[in-house]
Amino acid sequence: MIVKPPQKTEHLKQLEIMNERYLDIPSKTFDLFRRELSGYLGEKSLPYYVDLSNFTSRYDLYGLRLKDHNHHFQIDGLFLFPTFFLITEVKHLKGKLYLNESEQLIQNKDQEEKVYQHPLTQANLQKTQLQSLLTNLGYSNIPIHTLAIFTHDQAQLSFQHLDMIPVQQCPDRLQKLVSSYTERIYEMDQLLQLGKKLLTLHQERSISILEPKREILNNIRRGVFCPTCKPKAMRRTHGTWICSTCGHRDKNAHLDALCDFVYLFGFYINNKQARWFLLVDSLYTTSRILRKLEVETSGGTKFRVYNLKSLLRKYKR
Ligand SMILES: [Zn+2]
Repeated sequence: MIVKPPQKTEHLKQLEIMNERYLDIPSKTFDLFRRELSGYLGEKSLPYYVDLSNFTSRYDLYGLRLKDHNHHFQIDGLFLFPTFFLITEVKHLKGKLYLNESEQLIQNKDQEEKVYQHPLTQANLQKTQLQSLLTNLGYSNIPIHTLAIFTHDQAQLSFQHLDMIPVQQCPDRLQKLVSSYTERIYEMDQLLQLGKKLLTLHQERSISILEPKREILNNIRRGVFCPTCKPKAMRRTHGTWICSTCGHRDKNAHLDALCDFVYLFGFYINNKQARWFLLVDSLYTTSRILRKLEVETSGGTKFRVYNLKSLLRKYKR
């Protein structure tokens, strides 16, 4: 059973929005976006293969971010079996992958080489941190196995290792692992309890919003995007948003744009900022749009500030 499914992190959502909203995205931000996205895609592809293995007595947690002694660590996939725990480190890398003499992972893609830490070194560090946390929770005497899984279908592995495998070999490897750990240490209800406890200890990385500096503001693609033609913006006419390219109409299309605003600039918005971001000229139209949101406000009529936090509940990304 999945206790925590693979999900986009708040950080990835923000980077995705930045990728859409920057006119000229800073290369550092773009690299980070690509990295976070590929991590998510890898994690997302895992449950299918894990489920093929048919071991239903386990609890799965994807993308856990935990804290041990002031250090955060993230586990791509944690699987709680009654006989052992499994930490998986997911690598969604394409191209030729090999290990050099110093045991670093090298990715050779389009004649370019990139260096990564040995995936099992990474996973073993997570293991040490998890062990210390589990000891504090009273779950100390269970073996923890580490496995690196390569999820990209264009990954070409040039090493052979039982615990560094392409995702397709995952069901088979799980089968062997389950039969090699034979001593039952925890019952399912204890594992569920632990799974739930770990879920409460999960801490999303907090995102930092953009500084409203001129060079940043001038580099932002504003407007209410048409869902089909984005980043083409829709126009507001007679109380609805219309796309002049595909004819799509949506009265509430500004809601997603306002949620984008939150990820870029934070929860609070006033009339002037909303006009700027939504590309609406009229103060009255904007005021109507904002009042209809029925969100928490502060300040008098003229300096009213709207708190958009509650909008995020319906935001799909
Ligand atoms: Zn359109």
